[in-house]
Amino acid sequence: MLKDKAAIVTGSTSGIGLGIATALAAQKSRVMLNGFGDRAAIENIRKGLAEQHGVKTAYSSADVSRPAEIRALIESAERELGAVDILVNNAGIQHVAPVEEFPDDKWDAIIAINLSAAFHAVKAALPGMKRRGWGRIINIASAHGLVASAEKAGYVAAKHGLVGLTKVVAIETANSGVTCNAICPGWVLTPLVQKQVEAKAKEAGISVEQAKENLLREKQPMLRFTSPEQVGALAVFLCGDHAATLTGAALSVDGGWTAQ
Ligand code: NAD
Repeated sequence: MLKDKAAIVTGSTSGIGLGIATALAAQKSRVMLNGFGDRAAIENIRKGLAEQHGVKTAYSSADVSRPAEIRALIESAERELGAVDILVNNAGIQHVAPVEEFPDDKWDAIIAINLSAAFHAVKAALPGMKRRGWGRIINIASAHGLVASAEKAGYVAAKHGLVGLTKVVAIETANSGVTCNAICPGWVLTPLVQKQVEAKAKEAGISVEQAKENLLREKQPMLRFTSPEQVGALAVFLCGDHAATLTGAALSVDGGWTAQ
């Protein structure tokens, strides 16, 4: 379905980003991976995707908290894969603390990675998309892009901002063949959430399994995690012709979290 397309997925060495990169490669899109981690393990992922799906893949270690590295990431994808037709702004971090104790450096890092990185990537990738008359921008926001939780000032502010950015880009690109949407997952069991679960288990003196169940019960009517594959499938749908007029939306995949 995406045979002639090339994609960048930021933060795709793990979790949701890897699920999206895998789903795009399975549709025959060329894919540029990005993110941190063990170099040999990342190379295995890159090679594995290329071999399994018969597509060209590449990897960039760009730190998306740095605008110059984001511009270099877009340039290297244009050079190595021929274009950036699909941009998935997925890299993200979390920090949990009450607002008056929230460390300044954590606030700055969350805003840089979870929000400003998407602005810089869109700015760099959009001219090529407009020239080619086709593009898909997918911002991985969160249920926290639509509603708040205590102790997540940086994350909630950044994700609400990302939903706002999504709407502006959708309006500005409405007649250029480009769409821009946000995906707003509820709980997905990735390393980012595993860390929160383990911290809660330790704090409450309960098992990790019990902490997982408590986490779901606190927010989601549906007591199960969304998988990275399910988010990947929605990203693929957004890239297809059936979604050509779907733009500026914040799509919840959250087990009913924000329906309440
Ligand atoms: P994860 O920790 O498994 O993956 C995060 C990825 O981002 C990794 O590949 C990491 O290397 C990369 N990354 C982190 N900082 C980076 C930087 N400065 N530059 C480049 N790459 C960087 O987390 P995840 O749960 O898969 O989260 C992915 C996205 O989904 C995030 O934006 C997160 O906010 C969002 N999200 C997650 C959940 C969830 O329940 N897991 C729910 C809603 C939204």
